Amino acid sequence: MRVLKYSSEAIKEAASIIKEGGLVAFPTETVYGLGASALNPEAIARVFEVKRRPHFEPLIVHIADMMELERLCLRVDDRAKKLIKEFWPGPLTLVLPKSDILPDIVTAGLRTVAIRMPSHPVALELIREAGVPVAAPSANPSGYLSPTEASHVMEQIGPEIDLIIDGGKCPLGLESTVLDISEEPTLLRAGAVPIERIKEVIGEVKISSPLKEKRRYSLRKPLKILKNGEAGSPPEGMKVGLLAFKPPADSTPFEMVEVLSLSGDLREAAANLFSSLHRLDKAEIDLIYAEPIPETGLGRAIMERLRRAEDKK
Ligand code: AMP
Ligand code: MG
Repeated sequence: MRVLKYSSEAIKEAASIIKEGGLVAFPTETVYGLGASALNPEAIARVFEVKRRPHFEPLIVHIADMMELERLCLRVDDRAKKLIKEFWPGPLTLVLPKSDILPDIVTAGLRTVAIRMPSHPVALELIREAGVPVAAPSANPSGYLSPTEASHVMEQIGPEIDLIIDGGKCPLGLESTVLDISEEPTLLRAGAVPIERIKEVIGEVKISSPLKEKRRYSLRKPLKILKNGEAGSPPEGMKVGLLAFKPPADSTPFEMVEVLSLSGDLREAAANLFSSLHRLDKAEIDLIYAEPIPETGLGRAIMERLRRAEDKK
């Protein structure tokens, strides 16, 4: 496990690790983040692996330069601009329509992306030096307290990541406020910027309903998870797309096949999952069959996602 106190050399090293697809924990003004290049799907899969989340969740993408915002989002409307002017850099995360340069795993398949420009000088310097947007959830395993000091990160996930930048205590120690402004402004998570201050800038803000959140994840096409070893012959007259874990022995019954991993690697499968699902959902097929995935490590999160698609929740 490697820990470096903040210095410009430490930042250079951390930035090159991120550029090459590694994981670096770094301080922000809210909590310590577990950072990976937002443009590298396998690095993002590794973030989920280290967090041991039982499901995929969209990550916040951190930027240090306003030019990045234009690249990552389809539109930045006047409300967004007002909020940015008032609260960035700082602990306000904005959910905006995502552009295609971001891999789908970063947003867990959603068409929107959560973005924030942190104000912590170490975070800003690292993101700038890396030259890529940095996806970073809190640097703790799922279900544990968020880390506000480098030692928390060391104890919780230290041995599993490439580097920790120790920049002292996080000044706020409280997560960012998450506001969806892709449609009607909606508060998704209360955090360091009080909702009252947001209302002063853009007027009324709705509080999120968890039901709506769930619906936004669903596929249009029906999906069925096959039983272990089941070949899955398509029903008469139906065009079926197969979501395969590994290359299938026989692909002839299917209209199309999306292979998640050539070598049967769970990290690679996770990295490809959401783009494969999007392609299947858009294709000229009636039904999706999904092969079961071994439920260890990232396999559990993949299966959770498939079950949710099957239940149409
Ligand atoms: P954390 O990973 O602990 O920083 O938390 C990130 C928060 O942002 C979670 O509550 C996510 O559900 C939320 N979030 C991230 N991206 C999106 C998105 N595209 N739409 C809605 N919520 C998001
Ligand atoms: Mg968290």
